Amino acid sequence: MTRPIRVPANRRPPVLRSDQQLLTFADLEHWPAMTLRARSNLHARRIALADGVIRSAGLGHYLAVTKRIDRNLEIRALGRFGTAETQSIRQWQATLKQPSRCLPAPKNAKAYCHALGIAKSELRMSQLPQLQPTHLRFAGWDRYARALWLTEKAALAWQRMRIAARHCGIELQAISGFRSYAYQHVIFVRKRKRGQSLREILRVNTAPGFSEHHTGRALDIGCPDEPPAEISFENTRAFEWLCTNARRFGFSLSYPKGNPFGIDYEPWHWCWHEAHADRPSEGFP
Ligand SMILES: [Zn+2]
Repeated sequence: MTRPIRVPANRRPPVLRSDQQLLTFADLEHWPAMTLRARSNLHARRIALADGVIRSAGLGHYLAVTKRIDRNLEIRALGRFGTAETQSIRQWQATLKQPSRCLPAPKNAKAYCHALGIAKSELRMSQLPQLQPTHLRFAGWDRYARALWLTEKAALAWQRMRIAARHCGIELQAISGFRSYAYQHVIFVRKRKRGQSLREILRVNTAPGFSEHHTGRALDIGCPDEPPAEISFENTRAFEWLCTNARRFGFSLSYPKGNPFGIDYEPWHWCWHEAHADRPSEGFP
């Protein structure tokens, strides 16, 4: 049985601040520095002095650190990177003043599927391209002490729901929240390298561009002493509590038993929908 990893107290921010945002742009991501772990002493020193880190969305390579000076964003490279990355960073900088929006999923999804050799016929008829937002909100730490990112309203709803569950003696843990198109693509590439066929991978993973996790509203939920993303989650008190209460917070099970999408039953996968939420968001508690 998988034992949950306790989040060290020093990895929790004192408060959830509205400026703790993950910004996404094609194959790049801009993370608040405090939500990332350094991977070397040099990175630790640079990140400690930075406001943010630019990393590749797929492989998670750290490319540069950023510091806000007055109204400008100073960008300093972490090691060497090529002209493609420099160009991407320039393009991303040009979009910084734009409001929150969604990346063009259908276009990106096609490109990723084409690169992987996924034919249209291999995608389930029920699968629709999912839009990836450019702005995501820090929603706390997940079970593995990684920053959890969701859209603003979904993050707020998740925080509220966790607190309400705790009042009932139920501990809810986030297993996985937002996933980018690029990261979903990397999952496929890694599994292909391990010798799995596309058909095998598509049985358990959605093609890049088609996962509900791209939207920043989907959340895999678990609880202590339960292995992540297993059917056995349906036998827990946490699942029972969610079935009774999650809808009040706007969350519903995306793939219940016998769902019309033909997707395997996933008792751990919940998605926040504006229409389901009882109350409008009022800011973090
Ligand atoms: Zn999921």
